[in-house]
Amino acid sequence: MSRARVLLLNSALGPLDYRVPREMQVAPGSIVLAPLGPRQIAGVVWEAEHMPSDAEVGDNRLRNLVAAYELPPIAAPLRRLIEWTAAYYLSPPAAVLRMALSSASALDGGRTVIEYRATGRVPERLTPQRAQALERIGERQGLVRELAAIADVSDAVIRGLVKIDAIEAVEIAVDDPFPLPDPSFGPPALSPIQREVAETIVAAVRARKFDPMLLDGVTGSGKTEVYFEGIAAAIEAGRQTLVLLPEIALTEPFLKRFAARFGHLPVAWHSDLRQSQRRRAWRAVASGEAKVVVGARSALFLPYADLGLIVVDEAHETSFKQEDGVMYHARDVAVMRGSFEQVPVVLASATPAIETRQMVEIGRYRELKLPGRYGVAQMPAIAIVDLTLDPPPKQRWLAPSLVTALQETLERGEQSLLFLNRRGYAPLTLCRHCGHRFRCPNCTAWMVEHRLTARLACHHCGHVMPPPAACPECHEEDSLVACGPGVERIADEVAALLPDARAAIITSDTIWSPAKAAEFVNRMEAGDIDVVIGTQLVTKGYHFPNLTLVGVVDADLGLSGGDLRAAERSFQQIAQVAGRAGRGTKPGRVLVQTREPGAPVIQALVTSDAESFYHAETESRREAGAPPFGRYAAIIVSSEKLDEAVDTARLIGHSAPEVEGMMVFGPAPAPLAMLRGRHRQRLLVHARRALDVQDVIRGWLGGLEWKRGVRVAVDVDPYSFL
Ligand code: ADP
Ligand code: ZN
Repeated sequence: MSRARVLLLNSALGPLDYRVPREMQVAPGSIVLAPLGPRQIAGVVWEAEHMPSDAEVGDNRLRNLVAAYELPPIAAPLRRLIEWTAAYYLSPPAAVLRMALSSASALDGGRTVIEYRATGRVPERLTPQRAQALERIGERQGLVRELAAIADVSDAVIRGLVKIDAIEAVEIAVDDPFPLPDPSFGPPALSPIQREVAETIVAAVRARKFDPMLLDGVTGSGKTEVYFEGIAAAIEAGRQTLVLLPEIALTEPFLKRFAARFGHLPVAWHSDLRQSQRRRAWRAVASGEAKVVVGARSALFLPYADLGLIVVDEAHETSFKQEDGVMYHARDVAVMRGSFEQVPVVLASATPAIETRQMVEIGRYRELKLPGRYGVAQMPAIAIVDLTLDPPPKQRWLAPSLVTALQETLERGEQSLLFLNRRGYAPLTLCRHCGHRFRCPNCTAWMVEHRLTARLACHHCGHVMPPPAACPECHEEDSLVACGPGVERIADEVAALLPDARAAIITSDTIWSPAKAAEFVNRMEAGDIDVVIGTQLVTKGYHFPNLTLVGVVDADLGLSGGDLRAAERSFQQIAQVAGRAGRGTKPGRVLVQTREPGAPVIQALVTSDAESFYHAETESRREAGAPPFGRYAAIIVSSEKLDEAVDTARLIGHSAPEVEGMMVFGPAPAPLAMLRGRHRQRLLVHARRALDVQDVIRGWLGGLEWKRGVRVAVDVDPYSFL
């Protein structure tokens, strides 16, 4: 090949052609370095027929490729996945490729990296910044830039600490091999039903073909134990497994369990890795040496050398949907990857999504069921606390019966969990005197009070401010009041009611890294926490045998938003959090506080009749032609200038093509009408399932032009309607 088409790692560029120098060997998939203007940029050689270029250049004007990396090529199945993802989610292929080549430093050959760590020698006099840096860095190690970020100081502060010997350089070999997990290290004695399901998965792994399966089992039924057998089979066959988890906070407990079963840790992949760890993991994935990779959704696009099995745990979780950049759904793309790679895909969930259930219904996925909890553990009893009959006192949120249950649990030396999906102290702060409400200046959102950090914060853009002493509107002092509860306020209530209880608040504010999650798990296991107060972060995955009481503070909260999946999501969340109770030998109980005890979601939970709830939800989707029976795509137009956003959205609306089986709603101001200082307008496209709606949208938007400051994003199969 003397001429090569190359997809460069720059999302703004289409593929470009280059000349291959005579001494260089490249083939489709080769990772190369190419000249671009005065710079050099990495890219991947692609089949020209799969990657049309609209700027074909004559042979005589081609520039030479600079180098080919000594790395395994991006294999054909991954190339097809990248093309498919780009086409389906209407994204530039280069933006998807970037997720596959997600460690720039990994491209360079084996070498060592210099990292820094504290020496423990602390000089007597330290500036406050230096002291803060040393305190926050603690035992951690990383590049200067990484330590500066951890410590929230400038690079110069870290370098200053190196000069005075408080921090030292260490050379580490980045390509140390990962230990091989041992399939026979600690196999469990499976129950007959578990064994049967495990054998099905093992057979699928050995068959080496695409085989999507829904592993549907109640919380605590042993889904993890069972798919571990599939992983063992893949390891025995010398092949790799990818396990996707919805939150990086869940990787830590998973790693522990994995090590207990296989004797060694799997390779973790998530956004909290240091550059050197990322590089080492990427290279081990590409060489095939990393046998089991566990990660958040970004692990999906890594260049596995020899994939044998994909597992998506907690597959119903909506956090698998990426909401910026390439707006893909990792569960759906995982199934596509399984099909291109010809490997089985296990979707594990106690509360499968309606979309997944429908795939079982029409025979596309197999269903594997684990109907009961493992061993003596029983499903917890779920009872309603009707807040209209058993109300909490004023300015309190826990009903007397829930408080009594908390007291009893504490007296027995057992643990409780209170679930409220609201971070911070109070969702709204207002002035008692003039009624002024604190809004984010950049978003259509209230500023949320956080007492732990003593500030008001916007949960959409991260804008923060100290709580003012006086109202900015009427200047009345001490007039601010908190409205409604967040987890911090519930923690105050628990402290007032149960002064002896040791409480912990678990939210993304307190558990922001796997290390923090590990610390939480250790404290729970050691019995250092009596009451956990948490958001959706605590609803999934965790297994604490001594946790016997779960209280749902506001079961009605999730229903108020009213989008397509509100009822389903509410059901899943409450069923999942309820599933944390009574996982050991002690029975669990669940109290659900609600003002609408008759609501179908609540009834489905207390009668444990998920089937009729799902059936009714599915039928109403079918009638509305909503997913999975029809498709949606959202078009989101945004600009710093309101009129530009409105004009562009109107232009798009007016130019909508007439297509049989497709309807366009809007434009209308988005519910989140302003986000990060940008005005937002939305259109919603509703189409028949069989329609190639991406093709229609490509043609439609491709023919239009808008001002430079306007952004038009297309969200295919949207999960957020804000
Ligand atoms: P799920 O993933 O369905 O919620 P888990 O796999 O976490 O369920 O199992 C729940 C608990 O029961 C875990 O502590 C697990 O180790 C234990 N368990 C499940 N099956 C077995 C088994 N066959 N032998 C021993 N322990 C088991
Ligand atoms: Zn904001």
